[in-house]
Amino acid sequence: MIIDAHVHCTGQERSGDVLRSLDDAGIDMAVLLAPFLSEGYSLEDPESLRRGNAGLARLVKGHEDRLIGFAVLDPRRADAPDDLQRAYDQGLRGIKMVPAGWYPYDEQVQPLFAKAHELKMPLLFHSGIFIDGRSGRFCRPTFFEALRDYPGLKVALAHLGWPWTDEAIAVGLIELIHGVAPDQVMFRFDISFGPPPVYRREVLSKALSVLGPDLLQFGSDCFLPCSGAHIAERRGWVEDLLDELDVDARGRERIWSGTAAAWLGLDAADAARRAAQARERAPAEAATLGVATRRLFTSLLGGDQGRPPGLAPVCC
Ligand SMILES: [Zn+2]
Repeated sequence: MIIDAHVHCTGQERSGDVLRSLDDAGIDMAVLLAPFLSEGYSLEDPESLRRGNAGLARLVKGHEDRLIGFAVLDPRRADAPDDLQRAYDQGLRGIKMVPAGWYPYDEQVQPLFAKAHELKMPLLFHSGIFIDGRSGRFCRPTFFEALRDYPGLKVALAHLGWPWTDEAIAVGLIELIHGVAPDQVMFRFDISFGPPPVYRREVLSKALSVLGPDLLQFGSDCFLPCSGAHIAERRGWVEDLLDELDVDARGRERIWSGTAAAWLGLDAADAARRAAQARERAPAEAATLGVATRRLFTSLLGGDQGRPPGLAPVCC
C-alpha cells in the first residue's frame, strides 16, 4: 500500500479526477489538504478557509477509504476551535497549518492545539523555509516542541524541516532516546521535497541513519488537479533514493504507508484492504475532466515544467 501523506487542494479538483490520478500513480490513499495557497483562498482570510474546508469535506465524502481530508486554519483566531469542530463534524480528520505570522509556542494558538488534542486529530505542519519568502523564520523545527504540552498528539513535520534538517532530526530523536515506540512518538516527518535535488540523498540518508524509516513518510506535495504522471514522477524520486540507499523491504513499507497509517490512526492492513475495495469501485464513479484541461491545471498550479533544473518544486 502507498499513502501519499501530503497533497494540496486548490479548490479546482473533483473527486473522480483525484481518484483517477491516484490510480494512475499507484497511490492507494492520499491526505488532501484544504486550499490556502490558490486563487480565492488565503491564510489571512478565515472565510475563505472555511469555504475551502467545506469544499474538501464534500470532495472526500463517500471516498473516506482513499481520501483523508485535512482542514486548514488560522490558529490565531479566537473562533479557530469552533471552525475545527465544524470541519470535524463535516468529515475532515486532520489539520494542516503553516506558522505564518505566529510561532507554535504563542499563547494565542494554544486553544486550537488543545481542541485538536481533544478531537484526537493528527496534525501536519509546514516546517522549514516557506514559499512566501517571509514565514520560514516561524517554521523552525524546534519551535514545534511546544506541542509536547499535548501528550498523545500525532504530529508530522513536512519537508524534514529543510534547510534545518539536522534540527528536525534532533527533535524527532528525543523520544526514541527515551524508549518511546515509533508509532507512539509525537513527531514524524514527511520527505516531500523540500530539499533541492543536490541535498536529497544526504538528507534522507542521515534521517534514515538516525531516526530510521519508522519516523519517515512519503508525501508528493503535488497540487491538484494534476495528472497521475505528475504524482508518479515524485514517487519515482523517492524510489530512486531508496534504491540508492539500499533501504530494505520493511523500511520501504514504513515510508510508503506504515508510518503514515500510524500517524492517521489507521490499522495498516485494514486500510489497505478497504482502499483496494474502494479502488475496485472507483472507475465507475470517476468524473471526467479532459486530459488537456488536466495538463493545463498541472502546468499552472503544480507542475515543475519550465523550472530550471536543480531547483526545488513548490514546497509548502
Ligand atoms: Zn505542501
